[in-house]
Amino acid sequence: MNQHACRACHRSSGHLVLDLGEQPACDYFPRSDDPGPDPVYPLQMWLCSSCGLAQLLADPTVPEEARGTEPAALIAQAADAVTRVGAAGLLPGGAVVAEYGSPHGGSWLGLLTDRGLTPASPGGQADAIIDCFGLMHAADQRQALAERAARLAPGGVLMLQYHALSTIIRHRQWNALRHGHYAYYSTTAMSAMLATAGLSPRTAWQFDLYGGTVLLAAARADEGIGGPDNIIRSLLAEDARLGVRDPHTFSTLQGDVHAHANALHDWLAAQRSAGRTVLGYGAASRAVALLCHAQVDRRLLPAVIDASPAKQGLRMPGTDIPVANLSRLATGGLDAVLLFVPDLLAEVRNAFPEVETAGGRWVDVETLGS
Ligand SMILES: [Zn+2]
Repeated sequence: MNQHACRACHRSSGHLVLDLGEQPACDYFPRSDDPGPDPVYPLQMWLCSSCGLAQLLADPTVPEEARGTEPAALIAQAADAVTRVGAAGLLPGGAVVAEYGSPHGGSWLGLLTDRGLTPASPGGQADAIIDCFGLMHAADQRQALAERAARLAPGGVLMLQYHALSTIIRHRQWNALRHGHYAYYSTTAMSAMLATAGLSPRTAWQFDLYGGTVLLAAARADEGIGGPDNIIRSLLAEDARLGVRDPHTFSTLQGDVHAHANALHDWLAAQRSAGRTVLGYGAASRAVALLCHAQVDRRLLPAVIDASPAKQGLRMPGTDIPVANLSRLATGGLDAVLLFVPDLLAEVRNAFPEVETAGGRWVDVETLGS
């Protein structure tokens, strides 16, 4: 293999910090009658010693667009974020806005035009550039950030939202690592990347989404008076306390992989032995890595329910578990529904009361074995 060059600073000194072995492409859901085996690819996280960016080492897969339905939690967070950023005066009516969205959906543009902002022309300058989980999908991080920076009008603000690396470490979210997601940002590494693009972080907001999401506002380094505010400084201090630049910090994450997978397998086996019926909910990418590591098949988990019409008739990658539609929740006889996306808990309990009224319960997969 050629030596890896950092996706942000292009230097090659770094460490392999998380190795999930050979994994199927988590966003390619085969048809349920496709017997497999599905092709597998190495899934590894590398930590740059120079700029500190945690990143996907290699990505030989071609992304497939199986766009999921937007969870209410994501929609609510977007509204919350726009309100909070607007209250800080960063989204004035009449400002021109450009958005770099995620291929998985979740546009803020409607919320922003409702506030009186005007969409930028394609590739044109903007006073506010919103990147909501977009940047992580760029294989060349430096080029992608430079492209955003070049579009900032004088006095403009770039807002970047990311699932914080500190969250991944603290909440042991090893299965956040997936093909197609090239970067896992600490505020520390993001600040270094911004500096290279001539930008500097000014302030940030934090959200509970995915256990801890950061929305960071950056401006040109040579504009304005303020440097990083207290919120940015506290995020940097938290990064330092956790050791986000230290490869040893990630060893607990690696250790959690088998512990978590074993806990899932043991729990499902115990449920089956007790004659209980369990289905999964949320055919998300993080469920793919977990089910593959736990070697769960349809005898242990007969189906994973998902709201996305695009996933019906398909099965989970790397296993024979089919994706089922929402009507399965209403058929009764379910003792438990194993939730692979904990952010959805409030939403699904509210939307599908029949699960609990029929005596079933929702189980957060991340609580198993902890
Ligand atoms: Zn680097």
